[in-house]
Amino acid sequence: MRYDDSERARELARRARTLMDEVVLPLERELAGGVSVSEGTVAELRAAARDRDVYAPQLPAKYGGMGVDFRDALPVFEEAGRSPLGPVAMRVDAPDEGNMHLLELAGNELQKETYLEPLVAGGLRSGFSMTEPMQGAGSDPKLIETTARKEGDEWVIDGHKWWTTQGIEADVLFVLARTNEDVHPYEGCSIFVVPTEADGVEIVRNVPHIGGITRGVSHAEILYDGVRVPEEHLLGERDRGFVYAQERLGPARLTHCMRYSGMARRALEIAKVYLNARDGFGSRLSAKQSLRHRIADAETRLHVARTAIRDAADRISAGEQARVPVSMCKVFAASAVQDAIDLAVQCCGANGIGRDLPLSEFYGTVRQFRIVDGADEVHRRVIARHAFEDLEEAELEPLTRFGDPVGMRGESGDPNEVNEAEFVAE
Ligand SMILES: Cc1cc2nc3c(=O)[nH]c(=O)nc-3n(C[C@H](O)[C@H](O)[C@H](O)COP(=O)(O)OP(=O)(O)OC[C@H]3O[C@@H](n4cnc5c(N)ncnc54)[C@H](O)[C@@H]3O)c2cc1C
Repeated sequence: MRYDDSERARELARRARTLMDEVVLPLERELAGGVSVSEGTVAELRAAARDRDVYAPQLPAKYGGMGVDFRDALPVFEEAGRSPLGPVAMRVDAPDEGNMHLLELAGNELQKETYLEPLVAGGLRSGFSMTEPMQGAGSDPKLIETTARKEGDEWVIDGHKWWTTQGIEADVLFVLARTNEDVHPYEGCSIFVVPTEADGVEIVRNVPHIGGITRGVSHAEILYDGVRVPEEHLLGERDRGFVYAQERLGPARLTHCMRYSGMARRALEIAKVYLNARDGFGSRLSAKQSLRHRIADAETRLHVARTAIRDAADRISAGEQARVPVSMCKVFAASAVQDAIDLAVQCCGANGIGRDLPLSEFYGTVRQFRIVDGADEVHRRVIARHAFEDLEEAELEPLTRFGDPVGMRGESGDPNEVNEAEFVAE
């Protein structure tokens, strides 16, 4: 299988694969059994990635990365995704990867110096705090309740967030808050750079969840109770928080798709080896046509997903926002990887469920992908809205000959009319 990855991208991906095969996977196999990796081991993995020149490829060289173009760095995310330890080794791990991109995009020089460089180096960790308990921001982010008000040369933040990935381990949090009540939320929210040690930041708990054992990252519920930050902790311009969030999320969704694609490919690799080694009913299981066909279907869907991800990435690299292609990738890839991992578990029988192999962790972890970064339904809204644009009314001429089928249309005749008032921030 060959895509239009450049020679530089392929070379980088080869180095990433070597790191995975020689260092990361052997370590992951040693840890097998539901153990989380220590920070000391993470540091060793990162040193190995640096030695092989595949550390933070997506970040600018001036902040400690390799300065590789987003499109060329993308295949590294896929190689890294083959193990829960790959992304953290190569510093292409969420949520830091998206947050570093956000800082690069909108941060001021002080924020970059204080947070971006140490984040790239791996000395700091971060969280992105947008989702709130009911009835606050979730699939519909304009329900946001967290506020920030200006008092002198400080911002005072009040709110309640949950599901902030890595919130407990984080040194710094990127907090989305309402800064202007008089306008639509998408035009009246800002992002603040909040050190977790600031007074009023209260970590309530790690929300219990499935998946994500080997890296062992928290998903935190956090109270922001009159948290004061100096005005220079505003990220970018006031009231443009959703614009920055959207710019963070577009590429981040594709990097997520790539990591999960790597996970699904590894799951299938494990399943195929198992089927090829296991006898039953007079032959190797790998000879059973019913299983072969299911593997073939899973490989086909992954191929389609990987091609679509690269297409969307090409568009982003060319300066497009590519919201519809990104939404299509997100929905399709999330379904394809979930089904592939489910199949791999099935193929390995009890060992698909056990913890000697990584499949049960993959199975637990992958389920989130149809919810995070916009649930399936939210992305389908984006795709559907586009699909219903520019309809060719002449197609109904054969019917209108016999009278106007007005019952098939709204008052304005615009099928998107019902959604017009709604922005979509996903
Ligand atoms: C593992 C994990 C990590 C996360 N990390 C972060 C993080 O770091 N920072 C952060 O801010 N948030 C994070 N989140 C939260 C995540 O972004 C939200 O869960 C997601 O946006 C959905 O919001 P919600 O949970 O409030 O679901 P709700 O808004 O309550 O929606 C529930 C379900 O309703 C359905 N639905 C929603 N809208 C529609 C519609 N228009 N039509 C039909 N069906 C619909 C969807 O199936 C959706 O899953 C994380 C979540 C998980 C599971």
